[in-house]
Amino acid sequence: MSPTSLQFRLTVELIAISVISLTSVSIWAGWRMEQTLINGHKQMLEYIAMRFPDQVAMYMETGGINAGIERTSNKLSTARLSILVKSAEGEVIAKSVNNPDNVVDIAAIVASGNIPTTPQVVQFADRYVVMCGNGLTINGKLVGQVYLSQDITNEQRQLNNGIYGLAMVSISATIILILAIAYRIRTALAPLAQMSQIASDISIEDLSIVKLQLAKAPDEIKGLAQAFNEMLFRLSESWEQQRQFVGNVSHELRTPLTVIGGYLQSLLRRGDNLSVYQTQAISTASAETERTIQMLQDLLDLARADSGNLHFRQSPVFLNTLVAEVAVMSEKVSDRPVKVSFSNQDSNPDVDQDDIVALADQDRLQQVLINLVDNAIKYSAHTVEIKLETKEEQAIIHICDRGIGIPLPHQQRVFERFYRSDDPSTRSRDGTGLGLAIAKSLIEGMNGRISLRSKPNEGSTFTITLPIWKPTL
Ligand code: ADP
Repeated sequence: MSPTSLQFRLTVELIAISVISLTSVSIWAGWRMEQTLINGHKQMLEYIAMRFPDQVAMYMETGGINAGIERTSNKLSTARLSILVKSAEGEVIAKSVNNPDNVVDIAAIVASGNIPTTPQVVQFADRYVVMCGNGLTINGKLVGQVYLSQDITNEQRQLNNGIYGLAMVSISATIILILAIAYRIRTALAPLAQMSQIASDISIEDLSIVKLQLAKAPDEIKGLAQAFNEMLFRLSESWEQQRQFVGNVSHELRTPLTVIGGYLQSLLRRGDNLSVYQTQAISTASAETERTIQMLQDLLDLARADSGNLHFRQSPVFLNTLVAEVAVMSEKVSDRPVKVSFSNQDSNPDVDQDDIVALADQDRLQQVLINLVDNAIKYSAHTVEIKLETKEEQAIIHICDRGIGIPLPHQQRVFERFYRSDDPSTRSRDGTGLGLAIAKSLIEGMNGRISLRSKPNEGSTFTITLPIWKPTL
């Protein structure tokens, strides 16, 4: 998942909000628990510490200050509340005696040092006490220190267990929330992902048939899909109009150009009194006219193929013979060797052992082969090879060259109309960029496939796969 995707952002934001909310609720609940369990003891200890000097002053009237302190501490101490009073010199004046054995000895806590002046929870060994120590001032005179300690081990353990439970519940709830949020967002955005998948798979040929159908999507996305479908319809209409326009223009231009070409040819044949310059100019004009007529013918073929009006005469084609003829023809025109090799694995008992017979339109297949061999010769300086083989009831023709090759990002694009390499050093002058587009539409019209394997500077192999012809009994 990309960090800039809507799914990622929504998931992270919702998870962050949930974690912050859950943590806040847990902290608040923990604080409330502490208030209920511990704070009462702190307040009580604060009250006793505040009242202690008054109590001593009251009891000392009958028997001196030390007796007053001792009586006060005996009176106030309980099973869990311990009191220790030390003189200014550090001698113990009074120390309460607590009954339960498990109450921590207050003298030991005081000896460990650092006693807070306001009541605080202190852990001592495995027990917890609320503890405070203050100067004892009687009638304006500092007579020593009074230490108070309330054992709250049970309450503190209850609080610890409560906080632990709360943390566990919060963590589990957070994990469940994270999973639920991630799942929900993924399912909510799935129709969008589906939409983009369908949209990116639509080819120009499917424009009129493909429709986005998102049955389970929410209304907003259905609305988007509806708008997308309408856009597809408009696109398909304008594509159709463009196709018709190209077809009509090609048709209208071809006739006058053929007439011009004819006149130029006859002028060249009969023009004995033409100057060298005039002969050259007419030859160039004639060659360009031929090239343009060929391009218009290609465009017409493509327009016919697009509208389904290109008819194929499917019949058994002896590929060995056809390929050998194409090789001879290309060798003659280009003066370059074209090698042919055959390998027939699943041979047909009804025909010669080595013959490979495909079901195709012979003339159109020949046109495609000439085009591919012509390209192979144009874009390489070595021998071109045509390999013929059969595999799993398919006839396969490879046209291999060891030329300039085609970089990977361009390999799908070479079959597009008017695509030509943008590198002027590797681009032929006389090409139109329509040859491979026509080859693809002709081969597909014969129920075959055309594919390409190529590596820059190593060469290219165009592969045509056609159905093997099977005689009907
Ligand atoms: P063109 O008329 O330009 O040859 P094509 O449709 O036949 O048009 O080819 C399209 C482009 O594909 C060419 O311009 C060229 O860049 C590239 N191409 C075709 N065949 C080969 C090949 N055998 N080796 C390298 N590049 C090729």
